[in-house]
Amino acid sequence: MPANAQTLWFKTALLPDGWAGDVAITIAGGLIVHVEAGVPATGLEAHHGAALPGLVNLHSHGFQRAMSGLTEYRQSGGDGDFWSWRELLYKFVDRCTPEDVEAITAMAYAEMLEGGFTRVAEFHYLHHDTAGHAFSDPGEMAGRIAAAARDTGIGLTLLPVLYAHSGFGGLEATSGQRRFINTPASYHDILSSAEAHCAGLPDAIVGTAPHSLRAVTPGELEELTAMRPDRPVHIHIAEQEKEVADCLAWSGARPVDWLLDHVAVDERWCLVHATHTTPGELQRIAASGAVVGLCPVTEANLGDGIFNAPEFLAAGGHFGVGSDSNVSICAADELRMLEYSQRLAFRRRNVIAEAATSTGCSLFERALEGGYRAGGVTGGLMAGAPADIVVLRDTPHSIETGSADRLLDAWIFRQGRSAIGEVWRRGRKLVEKGRHVGREPIKARFHKALHRLVS
Ligand SMILES: [Zn+2]
Repeated sequence: MPANAQTLWFKTALLPDGWAGDVAITIAGGLIVHVEAGVPATGLEAHHGAALPGLVNLHSHGFQRAMSGLTEYRQSGGDGDFWSWRELLYKFVDRCTPEDVEAITAMAYAEMLEGGFTRVAEFHYLHHDTAGHAFSDPGEMAGRIAAAARDTGIGLTLLPVLYAHSGFGGLEATSGQRRFINTPASYHDILSSAEAHCAGLPDAIVGTAPHSLRAVTPGELEELTAMRPDRPVHIHIAEQEKEVADCLAWSGARPVDWLLDHVAVDERWCLVHATHTTPGELQRIAASGAVVGLCPVTEANLGDGIFNAPEFLAAGGHFGVGSDSNVSICAADELRMLEYSQRLAFRRRNVIAEAATSTGCSLFERALEGGYRAGGVTGGLMAGAPADIVVLRDTPHSIETGSADRLLDAWIFRQGRSAIGEVWRRGRKLVEKGRHVGREPIKARFHKALHRLVS
């Protein structure tokens, strides 16, 4: 055993092959080095709750956390939809400085850790200064996101985004998009700088992300996917019915069909949303091995629509969850909203459940595996994995009375984030009694940025 090792003891833990009792997890150098079940707690640092592996939040725009709660009203001219929300977003984006982005993102990341996520895939498209010019370091904003990850301790899969056009067919970008817009060449500079900024983070990964099929031409998409051929690739797809109609008008094909017809989509791909898809498209995604990135709370907030989970799961598809606009940040909220949206759409209960496990356990385990795949990582409570551990507070009734799956059901359907006691990330305890250990200064910086942005 390494000299600097520490051992944590849990009454129960969700290991790769299922629940185990009286589990000792030994950690050294940020990694799990040994896991053993049936060990007495005597002499070990005891944590009587239940240990879960941390989830990957597979889709986030950290800076949008500052808009949470500020767009819930009608504007003149109608109820509002995704596109009118986006206009508000662009006005907000106009004012964000690098300092603001770092402060807001750090708050979002602290809340993600408190909410059960130990890694985030950040879909990062706010690249340029307020006038739309590249910073002297083109990856300035990527560096701010890396700093927020470093300050909070969350694992980072950073996905600099190529956004080149305002619509299908290479339409010119609008002035509201000036801070996002790049050519493949200027994008490559951002990507290289992002990699340099992330070099000091212990297990950061930098992937690539075409924003959507409407924002890149086929030629640009081809250039981008060749840039880092072994890393994750994420793309927004089929979130909006208008997007599907525009894609059909442009190409004669729906977005998912078009992508799968023209690009070698495989396990490194994450198709974010995939809300408006046919059964045939869902079967094709499942066969490709790509992960669908579901963001149920944001999709509900924006009125996007409901993903067809039964069709996708029947085809053997993989999904994970993300907090996207960060209107609320909580893994249990995402998993609960996913299941409830399915119940409302299909008028059934326990839609995501597999035969042998509870609904909570099925949701969690599927989102865990899909999150790892989309994040470009492996994990779990096993030797060799990073010590990323979420501890549910002690609920002895659930543990004593039969299946420990009930712990997950209680967390997701009854308690939400209040169920989370501690969160460890690479062996460091970052959340204690449900609060991030650095919360106060992070919150103070966030409030300062928010005050400036909304005043
Ligand atoms: Zn998004």
